[in-house]
Amino acid sequence: QEDVFKKLVSHCKEYGFVFPSSEIYDGLGAVYDYGQYGVELKNNIKKYWWDSMTLLHENVVGLDSAIFMHPTIWKASGHVDAFNDPLIDNKDSKKRYRADVLIEDYLAKIDEKIQKEVDKAAKKFGEAFDEAQFRATNGRVLEHQAKRDEIHTRFAKALNDSNFEDLRQIIIDCEIACPISGTRNWTEVRQFNLMFSTEMGSTADGASKIYLRPETAQGIFVNFLNVQKTGRMKIPFGIAQIGKAFRNEIVARQFIFRMREFEQMEMQFFVRPGEEMEWFKMWKSTRLKWHKAMGLGDEKYRYHDHEKLAHYANAATDIEYEMPFGFKEVEGIHSRTDFDLSQHEKFSGKKIQYFDPELNKSYTPYVIETSIGVDRVFLSVMAGSYCEETLENGETRVVLKLPAALAPIKLAVLPLVKKDGLPEKAEEIVNMLKFDFRCQYDEKDSIGKRYRRQDAIGTPYCITVDHDTLKDNCVTIRFRDTMEQERVSIDKLHDIISEKVSL
Ligand code: ATP
Repeated sequence: QEDVFKKLVSHCKEYGFVFPSSEIYDGLGAVYDYGQYGVELKNNIKKYWWDSMTLLHENVVGLDSAIFMHPTIWKASGHVDAFNDPLIDNKDSKKRYRADVLIEDYLAKIDEKIQKEVDKAAKKFGEAFDEAQFRATNGRVLEHQAKRDEIHTRFAKALNDSNFEDLRQIIIDCEIACPISGTRNWTEVRQFNLMFSTEMGSTADGASKIYLRPETAQGIFVNFLNVQKTGRMKIPFGIAQIGKAFRNEIVARQFIFRMREFEQMEMQFFVRPGEEMEWFKMWKSTRLKWHKAMGLGDEKYRYHDHEKLAHYANAATDIEYEMPFGFKEVEGIHSRTDFDLSQHEKFSGKKIQYFDPELNKSYTPYVIETSIGVDRVFLSVMAGSYCEETLENGETRVVLKLPAALAPIKLAVLPLVKKDGLPEKAEEIVNMLKFDFRCQYDEKDSIGKRYRRQDAIGTPYCITVDHDTLKDNCVTIRFRDTMEQERVSIDKLHDIISEKVSL
């Protein structure tokens, strides 16, 4: 699986989807640029989300708030005091780690150890092997499993109690259980705030410290009254926003899964107090359907309901996708009570309430939030679409089986040869279709090579123009996934393509 992930990362780079930021200067940690195909795919993902929120729900409207906001907002939201991760340094290697992630890695290593024992035995005993029986009785497996369970329990408790001394001790114990570096020379665990800060205004004026927003949600909360009043919105209603967010993540790994600059699509849905659980359930199921409708495979998704809730939340769940490195959070759905609006009321001194004409009273609305990372959806789509296939003739092809609606290029128009009027005919087809679909014209290399190039960027249709086209006005359409080819009239192309490229 790790191997597949490495291939996926290099495919993203080789085919113009994702580049490391500032690459000619050796890159910048956990920051990435989207290339010519990446930006199209990303825009298509954003449009899919935006339309599903604001077109399909007449009570959800959009917003585009600024990245810079008044610094007190982050006091009110709790980010200045509590948006922290536990940090630890290794004194020998001078490497910095997020304590909880490090422990999770160790737990995974112990799991690997156990799996190795199981695999070894399976090989030895062949068909007669009963895995459950082996796990339940083998001494070494039981010993490792007991250690793992013990560490896991202590870890959960230490995190829950924010007990940093224990976190450090657990790391040391992990190293004894599962020697990796063998150093054990660790600093204390300390809190590290994830917000980036900068100064606004010249220092002579008394510049103030401001933050790059770590989430887009607060821009929605502070505009609640503006949108509600000017849009004459009636509860229940939602405000949706897409925008950049910044977090100074301690461990930068797993490609675009955890970035320091990333993009979020968030929607805050304002409801009557007491009705939030119904809406939470509704959004939970609506959001999962949105993911599944992309067609990457229903079994790739699961919910992860939170047992431990933030102090202001009364329900929370993640939608996880099975990445090449395991099931990981792609979206969070949270019932945030009236926490955010009440905090902003307290800190700003402005009354933030809604007068409900049906109930004939004012109240602070409760909020259901859906919060999803564009880059994580991008990664799920790429991972779910990447295939290496061996063809009947023994050749291999790499194909991105992207949902047609998200594919950066919808069709490629390919003249069989570069002469005899075929390029002109192909251009004509491009000119006919380019207003509705993103087309690519390609005349370089053999037709087989051109098909492979389109497969590698996930183009669902290739249209080949040959000598007969000039006589019968028909072309060959090749379907990416099946590689089947069909002879069709040029007049039919528009309908055939439109049928598949909308979600
Ligand atoms: P994690 O536990 O993975 O750090 P989180 O629980 O802090 O994520 P939220 O604060 O709930 O994440 O953010 C909402 C969504 O924003 C996440 O579901 C994820 O898709 C996205 N997101 C958060 N942090 C990052 C990041 N560093 N890089 C890319 N996407 C991110």
